[in-house]
Amino acid sequence: MEQTRNVQKLCLSDLTLPKLTDYIQSIGQPAFRAKQIFKWLHQKQVTDFSAMTDQPKNLIARLEQDCTIAAPVIRRRQQSRDGTVKYLLQLADGNCIETVLMRYHYGNTVCVSTQVGCAMGCRFCASTQAGRVRDLTPGEIASEIYTARKDTGERVSHVVLMGIGEPLHNFDNVMDFLELISCPEGINIGMRNISLSTCGLVPGIEKLARRHLQLTLSVSLHAPNNQVRSSMMPVNDAFPLEKLIPACRSYQKETGRRISFEYSMVKGVNDSPRMARELADLIRGMGAHVNLIPINPVDGSPYSATDEANVRRFQKMLEDLGVNATVRRRLGTDISAACGQLRREDAGQQKKQPDQSGERTNAQ
Ligand code: SAH
Repeated sequence: MEQTRNVQKLCLSDLTLPKLTDYIQSIGQPAFRAKQIFKWLHQKQVTDFSAMTDQPKNLIARLEQDCTIAAPVIRRRQQSRDGTVKYLLQLADGNCIETVLMRYHYGNTVCVSTQVGCAMGCRFCASTQAGRVRDLTPGEIASEIYTARKDTGERVSHVVLMGIGEPLHNFDNVMDFLELISCPEGINIGMRNISLSTCGLVPGIEKLARRHLQLTLSVSLHAPNNQVRSSMMPVNDAFPLEKLIPACRSYQKETGRRISFEYSMVKGVNDSPRMARELADLIRGMGAHVNLIPINPVDGSPYSATDEANVRRFQKMLEDLGVNATVRRRLGTDISAACGQLRREDAGQQKKQPDQSGERTNAQ
């Protein structure tokens, strides 16, 4: 079968330029060909070896026989009145992921998934309800951006790793993905235009700090104490706040980059004035930024969203207590629901929720 054979093949768009150069040389070709092929894959974003018109015929034949290129198929596409486009993409092995393109005044942002499903088990999140199926490869993650770019015919200037999956739970592939998309021979997205969001895997944060990347690290905090945080996020049992917050402080020291904290507001759980005070005490002095967003209720979750006025009140309290906080602008509110729901609907694992609204648009 076609797919079974493809599994055996090397996915060429997974390889960073140094790795691609090694491969090209290992099949007896000069190194400059690697650079040319890399440009075809990541700048022109072709999905067919025969489109590489400056390559010799015998090399194209060899690549066609031994290699593939990640090229997902758009299975569903929803466009919001504000221009936000949400894609359900089908990968070569049949698995589906979600990708969102958002339009901001500073340019288009693509929100990418990094895993098929997620193992982290956050109680409010649709992406994790059926667990983790597998990691995405570097080329698959990049192909999400290329697919959105080609579909809209528009330039993509910013990328956020805030779709399905936990990026630091797929560390090596995510690092190669960042190298692919920031490479000048590729789509060339500057690290400062990239945000990576984590639920708080401390060893991953420490490893990332040592890379000294200029990206923005977002940490999904969602609660100011262990009791509330553990009730929302099982990952807090392994890496409680007394480990997470020092890791965030060291990250800032090591990279010189400020962290931003995500805080999804749940009615009666983490949105009281006491919580605002606890939060301010926890992170004051870090110069960090807090992004507040009302939770997007998903099927099977006991949580409901804090209303707008209380979100504003919470923000005001944080500001008064010396913590920088913004309420995230919501895009795509008329299409689909929380991240991960399109995929779950498609898999027939849950019944459709026609009036769920409130796309998470976690771009900065
Ligand atoms: N695994 C990473 C990135 C993916 S989720 C992380 O946990 O950060 C991106 C952000 O959306 C996270 O802050 C996550 O906690 C939040 N999120 C997930 N489901 C949500 C929902 N239903 N409502 C509001 N925010 C949600």
